[in-house]
Amino acid sequence: MRSFIASLVVLVAGAASARAEPVVTITPASIHPGDPALVTVTNVTEAPRGKAGGQPLAFYRATNGFQAVFGAGLGIDEDHVLVEVAGAKPISVAVLSKKFPETKIVVEEEYANPPKADLELIDADNRAIGAAYAKAAGAPQFRRAFKRPPGATTSTFGEWRTFNDGHRAQHLGLDVMAREGAKVAAINDGTVAYAGETFLAGNVVVIAHGAGISSLYFHLSKITVAEGDVVKQGDEIGRAGHTGRTTGPHLHLGIHIANGLVDPVAFLKLRLSPAPPPAGV
Ligand SMILES: [Zn+2]
Repeated sequence: MRSFIASLVVLVAGAASARAEPVVTITPASIHPGDPALVTVTNVTEAPRGKAGGQPLAFYRATNGFQAVFGAGLGIDEDHVLVEVAGAKPISVAVLSKKFPETKIVVEEEYANPPKADLELIDADNRAIGAAYAKAAGAPQFRRAFKRPPGATTSTFGEWRTFNDGHRAQHLGLDVMAREGAKVAAINDGTVAYAGETFLAGNVVVIAHGAGISSLYFHLSKITVAEGDVVKQGDEIGRAGHTGRTTGPHLHLGIHIANGLVDPVAFLKLRLSPAPPPAGV
C-alpha cells in the first residue's frame, strides 16, 4: 500500500511539472497471427515516435491524440509484439495461437501448378501490387469507418488450402458471396493505386487509403476505375466475377497495412478516427 501511494505521489508530481507522459492504449489487448491492432497515443501535442515489433509506427493525427495501425504477421514465431512509444513504458501485446480451418481446393491445372512462364507473370503481378502499397503512405484519405462489402462470408482469412497438386497455401483475404456482374464498391475513401489484370487474382483493384492502409479487390469481371482515380466510400470500382484462380464468382477482399496482409474482419473492428485536415490544407 505504501508503495502504491508513493507511486501516486510520483504521478501527481509528474503532472504538476507539466512533463506529462504519453498515454498509450492498444486495442484489442491481445491478437492472433494475421491480426491488426490500433495504437492510440494521447497526452501529446506532436506525433509520437514509436515501434511495434521493431518496425516504425506511422502515426496520424486522430480526433483524440494520434493513432497508428500495426499487425502480427501470419508466420509470427513469438508470443507477443512489443509496442514502444517514446517517453512511455513499452507494452507487450499477447499473440494468441489460432487454429486456422483447412480445406481442399480443386482448380484448373494451369492454376494449381503454373508453368515457368506463368510463375514469371505471378512475380511481376506481385511486384506491381507491392508497388501499389507504397502509395498508401501519408495522411489518411478517409474520415469514416471502413465498410464491409455485402454478402455472406464464404472463406475467412488464414484458411489453409490444399490444391490439386498437394501444395498448401494460406488464404490472405476474406471471400464474400457476390453474383457475377454485381457492383463492387470502395470500402472507404482513397485513391486507386492499381487497376489491372493478374494471373492468380484475375482483375484486381487496389485502393490506397493513407495511414499505410490499402484495400484489395480480386477476381473482378470488369474494372470501372483507373489508377489515380479518387474514390469515395460506396463508389463503384468494378463488377464481381471469377477471373483468375477461383472456383466461382465471389469478391475477395484483402487489407494490407505496413507490415503485411491482415485479417479484414479484425481490421473492420478497429476504431480508426482520423482528425479532419487542418483548415487551409
Ligand atoms: Zn479469396
